[in-house]
Amino acid sequence: MTQKEIIVIGSGFGGLSAAIRLASAGHKVSLYEKRDKLGGRAYQYELNGFKFDGGPTVITAPYMFDELFALGNRQREDYFELLPIDPFYKIFDDKGRAYNYYRDLDRAKSEVAKISPRDVKGFEKFVKSSVEIFEKYHPLTEKPFLSAQEMLEIIPGALKMGTYLPTYHYAARFVKDEFLRRICSFHPLLIGGSPFDTPAIFDLIIQFEKEWGIHYARGGTGAIVNALGSLFQEMGGSIQLNTEISEILIENGRASGIRFSDGGIHKADEIVCNADVSFAYKNMIAKKHRPQKIDLYIDNLSYSNSLVVIYFGTKKRYLDSQLSHHNIIFNKKYRRLLKNIFKGKKLSDDLCIYMHMPTYSDNTIAPEGCESFYVLSLVPHLDANIDWNEIGPTYNDKILGFLEENYLPDLRNNIIAQHSINPLHFKHTLNSYKGAAFSVKPSLIQSGWMRPHTKSTFYKNLYFVGAGTHPGAGVPAVIASGKIAANMIDPVAGRTPQAAIEKRQQSILS
Ligand SMILES: Cc1cc2nc3c(=O)[nH]c(=O)nc-3n(C[C@H](O)[C@H](O)[C@H](O)COP(=O)(O)OP(=O)(O)OC[C@H]3O[C@@H](n4cnc5c(N)ncnc54)[C@H](O)[C@@H]3O)c2cc1C
Repeated sequence: MTQKEIIVIGSGFGGLSAAIRLASAGHKVSLYEKRDKLGGRAYQYELNGFKFDGGPTVITAPYMFDELFALGNRQREDYFELLPIDPFYKIFDDKGRAYNYYRDLDRAKSEVAKISPRDVKGFEKFVKSSVEIFEKYHPLTEKPFLSAQEMLEIIPGALKMGTYLPTYHYAARFVKDEFLRRICSFHPLLIGGSPFDTPAIFDLIIQFEKEWGIHYARGGTGAIVNALGSLFQEMGGSIQLNTEISEILIENGRASGIRFSDGGIHKADEIVCNADVSFAYKNMIAKKHRPQKIDLYIDNLSYSNSLVVIYFGTKKRYLDSQLSHHNIIFNKKYRRLLKNIFKGKKLSDDLCIYMHMPTYSDNTIAPEGCESFYVLSLVPHLDANIDWNEIGPTYNDKILGFLEENYLPDLRNNIIAQHSINPLHFKHTLNSYKGAAFSVKPSLIQSGWMRPHTKSTFYKNLYFVGAGTHPGAGVPAVIASGKIAANMIDPVAGRTPQAAIEKRQQSILS
């Protein structure tokens, strides 16, 4: 194939994945990013000697990174180190009970027995069924959906297995205890869906995590982003930071280039857009080229929740706390809180929290003797009409107060570095439609072919990668979206090198 001039807008994992692949096939690839660093949601903040990963912390499927490096005949291990994390999560309920979410089935069963001995058998059956779900549906996340027919083919299997049920109700078929039901069904929360309305097809993530383990990159997820940036440049790709693209140019129904916010133009053969698909359709295509049906389509999609995240470093260590590397804290009125967020678009007075404590595993990301954390609280997206400028500081203080009271004594007196984000950050800094943290919500009717398409339905030579497209949100999914788009542009860019196939197989955990 002749060399093409290709532009990638945005440097999230989806953009980086597409850019690396297209550069590996010999194309001239220019990547433009509006922020001052690569990574998008995985931007790494540096503050008073602390490094805080802005977003993804649970790193799964190392083979997906290995594959990108193999495209350049390189070894991922020469660029960054991955450390396995087990228990995957430590999960707390409102009664102070804790569950260590181990990978190993026997260890998991003894944790279940501590919570509810009568549920051990049901739990074992649940685990078996999540393996079946993974085997059935995971292959679909690696290929494009090109027709509605392909979607229809999924339905009989979903009806037979019951995987059309929301993950919570699916888990309830196997285990009785409320805490265990939550433990067996929380995974949609990691990708912007509610366990009460995201189908159990998404339980494929449970086995996906177990197949290759959960990992942490030494130096934080930022180390992965930097490595991918270097790889892309070593392959001849060009990166321009602090460069916002204001418009995707359309000529005769095809994307022909981009306009920078200062008015300059760059023409290209193909455009890969990693800016949020809904934002891009509504804001980056001139009105004269945008039929009304596009706006209607975007407005009729439903969107994920948003988040408040507080990154903080303390001048002392908290190793005697109950916390582990990844922590999830369920609240008492869990169902009501999720209903408020996803259906009522209301803020609850309660908190459902994920807490990252990376210094538990890595002392390179904080000054000596200090601890680094981030705490994430689920909130509705901007349709809720909450004035975050007004309530932001009070809401943050409520979260820190909760942690101080229950997990980290005297916290507020020990904080020496702090930064926070809320739905306004997702809207204004990351250009996410409605300030949604995970873009288009995962659901049966917004999956596969029914998600915004990788290859634009409306314009030729325009491709979308990232959380809003197939297969969805989460680092592995957006990396897969980059592969799917690259493959559509040039099958050489979408290839899987033999070395990577072998490594993927070898890295499956027994
Ligand atoms: C707090 C948080 C925690 C998460 N935790 C996990 C986790 O532990 N594990 C996991 O797998 N997933 C996690 N996720 C989800 C995962 O991070 C995302 O789904 C994924 O990183 C999104 O990647 P993306 O390719 O869609 O691009 P994004 O990360 O959304 O990046 C898009 C980029 O495009 C840029 N851009 C936008 N518009 C323009 C423009 N006009 N011009 C130039 N540049 C532009 C933006 O600045 C941004 O850098 C988390 C998400 C969040 C928010």
